[in-house]
Amino acid sequence: MPPTDAFHRLPWQVDWFVPELEHRKYTKAYREPEDYAESVNLYFGDLHKHTRLSPCANVHPYNQTPAESYEHARDVMGCDFLAICDHAERITVEQWRESMALAEATTEPGRFVAWPSVEWATGLYGHRNIYFRHYDVPLLSGRELKTPPALWQHIRANNLPALTIPHHPARELAADLTRTDDELEPAYEIFSGWGNEEYYGAPMQDTDRSFTRNFAVDTLLRGFRMGFVGGGDGHPAPPADSGITGIYAKDLTLPSLWEALRQRRTIATTGAKIRVDFHVNGFPIGSVLRFNQHQVNELFPLQIGVAVQGTAPIECVEIVENGVTVHTKTKPRARLDQMAYQWFRPSGPTDGVKRIGSNANVSRFLYARVTQRDGHMAWTSPIWLDFYYDE
Ligand SMILES: [Zn+2]
Ligand SMILES: [Zn+2]
Repeated sequence: MPPTDAFHRLPWQVDWFVPELEHRKYTKAYREPEDYAESVNLYFGDLHKHTRLSPCANVHPYNQTPAESYEHARDVMGCDFLAICDHAERITVEQWRESMALAEATTEPGRFVAWPSVEWATGLYGHRNIYFRHYDVPLLSGRELKTPPALWQHIRANNLPALTIPHHPARELAADLTRTDDELEPAYEIFSGWGNEEYYGAPMQDTDRSFTRNFAVDTLLRGFRMGFVGGGDGHPAPPADSGITGIYAKDLTLPSLWEALRQRRTIATTGAKIRVDFHVNGFPIGSVLRFNQHQVNELFPLQIGVAVQGTAPIECVEIVENGVTVHTKTKPRARLDQMAYQWFRPSGPTDGVKRIGSNANVSRFLYARVTQRDGHMAWTSPIWLDFYYDE
């Protein structure tokens, strides 16, 4: 394969498109259309719902039962999936078995997936949800597995098909984000009923008691490779009320959704089903491109493609690089709820450029942020460019 192909490909094909992009998109096609690596659909759902089984100090008397939650998510909110994450420390093994049986019985491949999941919480290390790949799984609780490393070690030792995602890391009860696990922890819950945790000072930010080093951008700048998801964390609220996740997956089945989550093929929104596609050189959301000093010129300029199908007029679409907004596009005319464009990004200079020989260390992460005029927002998971020095 010629070296250029390592860094350029056609983007995936999705089940929706923006007409404007369709005729402009990726005009520099590097391969024939039949060589599309992937064909995916975008599925929306709430990855973080509580039910009556989570009596948080009994302050939320209006909780639904698990069955009511699934029904509401599927039939009222039009969700493709729902993850009920009740508190592992507050439910019995019997209740867990019943929940898993209900989830399995509720799942209809191609129509709706009831995602087997649970919330792990400790006072010292905050909250993480656990998402399983099938229904015959044990209850994992913060009572026995008291630290995140203990949890990950247990998952590995028992070969459990499980992924973890921290939530409200920047608010009180913060999740410990001094460490994560690149394999087992693919995402960060960037938006929930508690608010926006993208960066300190972001719109709809959670609370003024926030931990400034624990926002999503802080975490990514630490070098952690986490995509973005949204979930309601609704105790009294119905599912998909605030914070939802879009997953680009092959089909609507639990194994496909789980695999796509593992690969960070996700977008997060404040609750509206805003469709966003984002590519760098044709590589999709969640990708990691590793390159060395000999390959910089093949990789750059980056060909960045964005397509948005909003649910309301779009205020702006922004490209964020290493936590800094480097490009903003607004569209004052015609078909205001759609936007699609390409943008070429040179290799530098950027913040913190580090010179190595005659080349720059141009490692970075990039993602797209969408803001609608009605206030709803969406974020794609990042795409990472990882520089390594070839001796
Ligand atoms: Zn929690
Ligand atoms: Zn929760």
